[in-house]
Amino acid sequence: MARYTGPVCRLCRREMEKLYLKGDRCYTDKCPLERRARPPGEHGQARRKVSEYALRLREKQKAKRIYGVLEAQFRRYLERATRARGVTGEALLQILETRLDNVVYRMGFASSRRQARQLVRHGHFSVNGRKVDIPSYSVRPGDVVAVRPKSRQLDLFKVLAEEAEGRRSPDWLDVDVQNMRGKVVRLPRRDEIDVPVQEHLIVELYSR
Ligand code: SF4
Repeated sequence: MARYTGPVCRLCRREMEKLYLKGDRCYTDKCPLERRARPPGEHGQARRKVSEYALRLREKQKAKRIYGVLEAQFRRYLERATRARGVTGEALLQILETRLDNVVYRMGFASSRRQARQLVRHGHFSVNGRKVDIPSYSVRPGDVVAVRPKSRQLDLFKVLAEEAEGRRSPDWLDVDVQNMRGKVVRLPRRDEIDVPVQEHLIVELYSR
C-alpha cells in the first residue's frame, strides 16, 4: 500500500498546525513549528486570500495527513461514510478512527500513528487472536486487539506498555496494558475524537 515518505514535519508546516505525527518529539521544543511557524517553500510567507474551496481542501488534507491516508483510499472512506446512517462527517471520522493502526495508537501501543502503522505491518498485532498486518484493517465493536505473544518480549513493547500505564485511553476502548490487549467497546462519538478537523467542510468539498 502506498504511503507518504517525505519529510513529516513539512506536513504540519503546510497546515500551520501541529498534527502530532512524530509521537513524543511533537511535545518538545524540537518541534519545528515551535520555531518556524510558516508554510514550507519559497512562497511560504506570501499572503494569500483564502477561498472557500481552499479552506475545504485544507481540512481534507489535514485529515489525510493526520491518519496517513492517501487520496484514493480517503475517497473510498467518504463513499462508505455517505452510505452509513447518521451524519456523514462523523461517520467518516469513525471509519478513520477504527483503522487498526489508529486503534493501536489510541490504545497506547505506539507513540504515533506512523509507528503504529509500521508495527502492524511487521505483524506484531492480532485481532480476535488472528494475526493482522494490514494497517487499514477496520476493527468493529467487540474486536480484541492484542500485541502478539512473541512480540510482547520485545523491549520496545515493554517501554510502550510502561508509558501507556499512566495514560488514559479513550472511553470507547477498554485497554488492559498489563496483558497488552484492548477491546473496542463501541464506535467513538465525535466529541471523543480529538482531531482538529472540521469534517463538514470535507463533506462539502466532495459534494460539489
Ligand atoms: Fe508536526 Fe510533530 Fe513535526 Fe511538530 S514535531 S511539526 S507536531 S510532526
